[in-house]
Amino acid sequence: MKAEILSIGTELLLGEIVDTNTPFLANQLSLLGIDLFFTSAVGDNPGRLSGALRQAWERSDVIITTGGLGPTQDDITRETIAGLFKEEPAVDPALKQSIVDYFAQRGIEMPASNIKQAVLVPSAAAIPNSRGTAPGWWVERDGRIIVAMPGPPGEMQFMWQNQVFPRLQRKTGAIILSRMLKTFSLTEAKVDELVTPLMSSLNPTLATYAKLDGIYLRIAAKAARRPEAEELISRHEADIKKILGDAIWGADDETQESVVGQLLTTRGLTLAVAESFTSGYLAHTLASAPGSRSYFKGGIVAATDEVKVVLGIDAGLVAGGPSAELAVAMAGLARQKLGASIGIGIEGYSEPVGGTLPGTVFIAIDRESIGEPVVQRYSGRLYQMKKRAAYYALFDLMKLLRSA
Ligand code: AMP
Ligand code: MG
Repeated sequence: MKAEILSIGTELLLGEIVDTNTPFLANQLSLLGIDLFFTSAVGDNPGRLSGALRQAWERSDVIITTGGLGPTQDDITRETIAGLFKEEPAVDPALKQSIVDYFAQRGIEMPASNIKQAVLVPSAAAIPNSRGTAPGWWVERDGRIIVAMPGPPGEMQFMWQNQVFPRLQRKTGAIILSRMLKTFSLTEAKVDELVTPLMSSLNPTLATYAKLDGIYLRIAAKAARRPEAEELISRHEADIKKILGDAIWGADDETQESVVGQLLTTRGLTLAVAESFTSGYLAHTLASAPGSRSYFKGGIVAATDEVKVVLGIDAGLVAGGPSAELAVAMAGLARQKLGASIGIGIEGYSEPVGGTLPGTVFIAIDRESIGEPVVQRYSGRLYQMKKRAAYYALFDLMKLLRSA
């Protein structure tokens, strides 16, 4: 199957919004093992949209469109598809009712313009949209498919995941499974180099992605039946784990904060943090894990030296500026003041050097059962260094908890 993605909306061509639907869908099509040959964007213009759809229909088996399904006059995707096939749009009573109900649930009367979201043509079936009023269209003709979905990414992705992906998967007749392994502390080039021998495999395939919380590796396997795909993935996963070892901290939906949370919970430990360089980002990240209140006591954000002194850190130490010793004092302060079993302190600074902004971060972990705090120092470009510093801290804590 040859696929093509068409993003519809004049705002995309004015540079007002960034097209995030295309990369999402491109990635999803690769998971389905469907070849993507073209992507394009077109404005809300009847002639040009019609031309773009006609061209897509001539060269592709599956056309995925997003946008132009809204209630307003400029949203013309339905009308244009109907025109392409010379089919007459008609209001579908069941669809109309579902839109009326959608508004009734919110205590609003349905605006008259929304009626255009309730039309269908004979070749189109509605794809339910539980996140909004615009149903999608699944159009099948002459062995080819057009899937029209709403533009707002949240609605589109929900519809894709729950309705479109499973239908397309049935069409391809193959099971595709994937597993995302998550690493930290290695660069993408290093990960790539280490797993080179596995990269040439065609099934499963292996791809790397650089994220703020580390380098991810996606293993994707295709098979006729689920157990075969699972078997392919687990063999590849075992090989990768042999190579990358401790650098792997989690998989799939796991986040660093959720893994840290599990490790603390199973050991019956609590955590508190004191940060200056990261301005509360570490506390925010930790608190973002569901159920974090059972092990995360809270954080101190000390933006100025005076605050550190008021909280009880030695004035001379503070005056010396960010240092490993100061990070240790901050970690101890967090643990003692907030009554936790573990404290993390983060200090850091950045200085322009010849046009770049390198940052240096000191991270200390203070633990009541270990007399000596653990200190690490990291440097990097300031570009998102503050957020990365929080992930360095979480990764260090994971290593410490796993070795204990
Ligand atoms: P629609 O009413 O279906 O044309 O879509 C309306 C809104 O969805 C737009 O104003 C954007 O905020 C969002 N949207 C549409 N297309 C895209 C896209 N390709 N990527 C990201 N957001 C989009
Ligand atoms: Mg639009």
